Amino acid sequence: MKRKRIAVISGKGGVGKTSLVASLASIAHKDHDINLIVLDCDVDAPNLALILPPKSEEDVITQDMYTTKKVKFLEEICIQCKQCYDEHFCEFNALNWDENNNFPIIDYLACEGCGACKVLCPESAFEINPVKSGEIISYETSSELPLIYGKTKLGSSTSGLLVSGVKELAKNLKKYNDTNLILIDGPPGIGCPVIATVSGLDYIVAITEPTPSGLHDLKRALEMVNQFNIPFGIVINKADLKSASQKQLNRYIKKSNHEILGRINFDLSIPEAMSYAESVVDYAPESVSSQAINKIYTKLKHILSKI
Ligand code: SF4
Ligand code: SF4
Repeated sequence: MKRKRIAVISGKGGVGKTSLVASLASIAHKDHDINLIVLDCDVDAPNLALILPPKSEEDVITQDMYTTKKVKFLEEICIQCKQCYDEHFCEFNALNWDENNNFPIIDYLACEGCGACKVLCPESAFEINPVKSGEIISYETSSELPLIYGKTKLGSSTSGLLVSGVKELAKNLKKYNDTNLILIDGPPGIGCPVIATVSGLDYIVAITEPTPSGLHDLKRALEMVNQFNIPFGIVINKADLKSASQKQLNRYIKKSNHEILGRINFDLSIPEAMSYAESVVDYAPESVSSQAINKIYTKLKHILSKI
């Protein structure tokens, strides 16, 4: 198989995305046809590393990322004219005024580093500097699988760039040239991080559950995927859940003609496996959910071989 890049995404969090990725990674890693790299691009809440810990803490490489810019006020240059506050230089309301000291005060969490204040200030009493926005962590897992994940710094807003950094770093791995599958745990939602995740991929797995929010957010996620023209398949988790949304989900899938990769029925083995920080296919290989995930993997592999 030629190299394929796929991501598991979900419109909403908590539908079993990371749990599915961990199981697919475990199956693919044991498959002799597959040479795998795993990425966790859910940079605001990266959890995959809990299930796939490093072989040795000493081999963990952490790289700081400086994708955010913030303003620095240069007090010694300021002539205290107050224009920055009175003329509302900052569209993000990050500039306030200290009446006691007669200086601008900066709200660093609100500052987007746009540089408008630096340009508009008659004395250029502001400086724009890159600040640490997160980290990219890479290592070989205890089962000798390369894993790279990003971690956004609290309050940082440019996680899309961090996601791109994670994807780029994979290309620098020694193993990259021999890799024929890159499996990504994508972020939930439809924002910047998920857009950065799906761009350039070969296939998307969208996981959902038969609940009102599951269906609603699945539709939004697929609308976003369609913008990129990437083929996708759906996995329904807790597929046997007794809920009012079952009919609506089935009707939607029938009408839309979307590809169903598989259905995973509710199975206590999954939360149990998670509580032991293991994938369900490793924790309970004979469970109904493990059997369903193995079938999903086989179907997915077949689809990828045709792309
Ligand atoms: S506009 Fe510039 S010089 Fe004037 S108060 Fe603001 S920072 Fe100081
Ligand atoms: S850099 Fe932009 S966002 Fe930050 S304080 Fe200046 S004008 Fe506001």
